[in-house]
Amino acid sequence: MKQTSLDLVLRDLQTLHAVVLATGNQVHIWSPGVHVPSHLLNQVNTHKRAVKNRVERSSIYVCPSPGLHRSSWEYVNGRFYCRVCEQLQQYVS
Ligand SMILES: [Zn+2]
Repeated sequence: MKQTSLDLVLRDLQTLHAVVLATGNQVHIWSPGVHVPSHLLNQVNTHKRAVKNRVERSSIYVCPSPGLHRSSWEYVNGRFYCRVCEQLQQYVS
């Protein structure tokens, strides 16, 4: 699969273990103690709708802790999602 610039941005955020949150029409990055480069924040803002869509679907591409959550990843209807992130999303949305 060809990687888009958004894929690369989300991969970089994942490397930082940054949590991507979607509330209302906004997307926020939560990364306590970790500096998120402004170009990543700008890209998230540019692709806000697509990022929000991935967060709302608990896509593995916005899972902040693949190492810890991987055993909770499931493949349903052609997409991978993270059951742990899905649960966490309910508390912040
Ligand atoms: Zn996860």
